[in-house]
Amino acid sequence: MYFDILTLFPEIFPGPLGHSITGRAIENGLLEINAVDIRDFSQDKHNRVDDTPYGGGAGMVMQPGPIDRAYSSVTESRHEESKTIFFSPQGQQLDQPKVKELAKEPGLILLCGHYEGVDERIRQEIVDEEISIGDYVLTGGELPAMVLIDAVSRMLPGVVGTSESAEDDSFYHGLLDYPHYTRPREYKGQEVPEVLLSGHHARIDRWRKKQSIKRTLLRRPDLLAARDLTELEEELLKEVKAEIEDDIKNARS
Ligand code: SAM
Repeated sequence: MYFDILTLFPEIFPGPLGHSITGRAIENGLLEINAVDIRDFSQDKHNRVDDTPYGGGAGMVMQPGPIDRAYSSVTESRHEESKTIFFSPQGQQLDQPKVKELAKEPGLILLCGHYEGVDERIRQEIVDEEISIGDYVLTGGELPAMVLIDAVSRMLPGVVGTSESAEDDSFYHGLLDYPHYTRPREYKGQEVPEVLLSGHHARIDRWRKKQSIKRTLLRRPDLLAARDLTELEEELLKEVKAEIEDDIKNARS
């Protein structure tokens, strides 16, 4: 999958994406990260790409012309049409269903804003979707672009090996991940749960599923409410609720 990133700071890329799992995916050709410098498309003799806002007020606004020309340079060089995403705190908040949906695209054009953002007319002209990574304001769209690329890459076949299966991760199936343990068997007086040492795969799977349900119930009940539970999950949820009630009774007595 390719990512054409329209940015004022191309040197930031690939940055952390050049390491570990995404770094390997770039090396293997599963991931292409193409950072395009919007400034290269300025027609101003000082290479300016921003200007003061009409109507006055603080901050600078990215001009439409250089973005439009940078955009055309990437669309002209690609065979297929790509969706264009603009990063904005006003956009739809990125979540796992959105990540999975975007991973089905052959590639994406990512527009990173800076300063006060981009001229409204270029947003109207080229942007298909606006995406936010949370209800806070960052300096620019480059970190959100990296967040999106990392999350989408994990969904691409071959990027995450079976040893690091993305399918068990939080949110993938609408539940939070279960707790993980590794050596040593005892750490500062805390033992690894016995079931994980049993070698009994069906029991381990059941325990893990129950822990996932417990964590989701305690930390993100909204996720649980939004999910159609299987028969086994309903049964485990009942067990979890009964255990929590027992814990409360015991704490009171
Ligand atoms: N004036 C804009 C507003 O209030 O909506 C904020 C501009 S922000 C300082 C500069 C750029 O950072 C934005 O154009 C956007 O590309 C990016 N950005 C900031 N916060 C973001 C967030 N939470 N999610 C996605 N992008 C964000």
